[in-house]
Amino acid sequence: MPRELPSPNRDARPAGAGVALLVLHYTGMQSGAAAIARLTDPAARVSAHYVIEEDGSVLALVPEDCRAWHAGVAGWGAIRDVNGHSIGIELVNPGHDWGYRPFPAAQIAALVELGQAILARHGLPPGAVVGHSDVAPARKIDPGELFPWAELAGCGLGVWPGTCEGAAPAMKVALDGLRTIGFRPDLPDTTPARVIAAFQRHWRPGRIDGRLDAETMGLIAAVHRLSAAAPGAT
Ligand SMILES: [Zn+2]
Repeated sequence: MPRELPSPNRDARPAGAGVALLVLHYTGMQSGAAAIARLTDPAARVSAHYVIEEDGSVLALVPEDCRAWHAGVAGWGAIRDVNGHSIGIELVNPGHDWGYRPFPAAQIAALVELGQAILARHGLPPGAVVGHSDVAPARKIDPGELFPWAELAGCGLGVWPGTCEGAAPAMKVALDGLRTIGFRPDLPDTTPARVIAAFQRHWRPGRIDGRLDAETMGLIAAVHRLSAAAPGAT
C-alpha cells in the first residue's frame, strides 16, 4: 500500500474527464527528499499522483480522482489537457542534470504493480502508458533512454514491437504514423526532428538523433500497428 503524503498541488478534473493516460516521469533532482519537498510545496505548483523511490517505496500525493500538475504544456492524441485526463507517476532519479542512472529493479517492480492496478482501475489499454517526453517532445526528455520500456511492455504497460523490418524513410508517412500513435507535432516549438527524437528516446534508445532513418521508419510503422487508436477525449 502506498504511504499517503498529501500534496496541496491539485484541483478538480474537468467535468466528465476520465483518465485516459498514465504519464511516467523522473524527478530530475539531486535527491528523492528534495523532489518530494518540491512536489508538496504550495509555492512550486507541481505535483504527481504518485512518487516511487529508488527502493520501491510508493508515496501517494494526489488522489486519482483529482488533477495533479505534472505534465505542463503537453498533448497526446486528441488530448491537450493532459493533466486533466491522466495519472502521473514520478520515479525518483537524478535525471540528466544531476547524474542520470539506471532505474533499480525494486523501483521498476513497484511501478509495474502500481501501473497494472491503475490500468485495471480505469480500464486502459497498454498503449495508454506514455512518457513525459512523448507528450511534450519539445520540452522534456524524461523518463529518458535508460527507462526499461521493453521490460514494462512485457508486463502489459506500454507497447514494444521488438525486432522489425526497416522501411524507406518518407517524412509525411512517418508524421502521419506518429500522429496516429499520439504524438502532437503541432505543440509549441515542436519540429518534426523533435518528435522523431522523442519517438527514438522511447522506442530506439540506442540512437537518438532526430533523423528519420530506415530503422526508425520501420519502428514507427510497428508501434503504429500495436498502439490502440489514440484517445478521443479533448
Ligand atoms: Zn516529467
